[in-house]
Amino acid sequence: MKECDVLIIGAGPAGLTAALYTARYGNSLIIVDQGAPGGQMLLMDEIENYPGVGKIKGFELAERMEKEAKDVGVEVLFEEISSIEKKDGKFISHGNDDDYISKAVLISSGASHRKLGAEGEDELVGRGVSYCATCDGPFFRGKSVVVVGGGDTALTDALYLSKIAKEVHLVHRRDEFRGQKILSERVRKCENITLHLKRNVKKILSENGKVSGVLLDSGEEIRADGVFILVGVVPNSAFVSSLVETENGFIKTDGKMETSASGIFASGDVRTTPLRQVSSAVGDGAIASHAIDEYIRNTF
Ligand code: NAP
Repeated sequence: MKECDVLIIGAGPAGLTAALYTARYGNSLIIVDQGAPGGQMLLMDEIENYPGVGKIKGFELAERMEKEAKDVGVEVLFEEISSIEKKDGKFISHGNDDDYISKAVLISSGASHRKLGAEGEDELVGRGVSYCATCDGPFFRGKSVVVVGGGDTALTDALYLSKIAKEVHLVHRRDEFRGQKILSERVRKCENITLHLKRNVKKILSENGKVSGVLLDSGEEIRADGVFILVGVVPNSAFVSSLVETENGFIKTDGKMETSASGIFASGDVRTTPLRQVSSAVGDGAIASHAIDEYIRNTF
């Protein structure tokens, strides 16, 4: 059993910021992640709306945040937390490798890709169906790809893929995009992106066990070698959902990032928030660590 003041679950921008601030407040901490530090930043090609650093590769911003945490003595442990219980005013978080006892817990476990639910999707994952353009895009150099979705991720990744693939077909269920206007304007102007608006993907088609295209609900078929499904996110909150109030799986917090369970805080994409950006996650992490410091001083 490892002991600390604050256990931070998730090392994306919210968790890494909270780690930096928590260390500076003088609280001992352990930060864990079930993957590499950086969270969804690792899935982004370029980030261009994080103030002060200009255009930057997602992995580079992740590396910088991890380094800043390391500089104040914080190492991210590779660990998956499966449940949390409260005992004698403290929290015991159960992981695969160890258990962690802490005065407060910060959930910054982020969100994962949502599935589309189209016929053929599950069978063709890794055979042309992907949820990560920066991870799998390079496999489709000079080929045709379909992108499904109309949010920031679909728009950003359609633009990224347009530089690699021969052609990109963007399929979106409405005629307006949910994503930022600046991105939708770039997408509309991009010569090798074809829009298929007010369309849904009904079925992902295959030949010889690999993606060969998609069938739309309009009856049209698009020939393609890859299908990138970028239709939003689902929160990584299952391990704590019995302890805190949630809305559609996202953890409810107040303005200080405190959840319905005293001593458990949440920040970043896992919580109910109108905006899911690196900058908002960073702000959440800073606020949470401040509130946690206050909670620890008032409670122990
Ligand atoms: P999102 O904003 O929730 O958008 C999801 C998109 O997928 C929407 O256009 C939605 O259509 C569509 N969709 C959802 N379910 C669908 C279904 N079953 N069939 C067809 N289409 C479906 O998700 P996101 O784009 O992944 O972004 C997640 C968060 O990260 C957002 O807060 C976003 O702003 C942020 N983000 C920001 C940046 C950036 O600032 N550069 C980059 C990436 C992500 P409707 O529009 O019709 O609902």
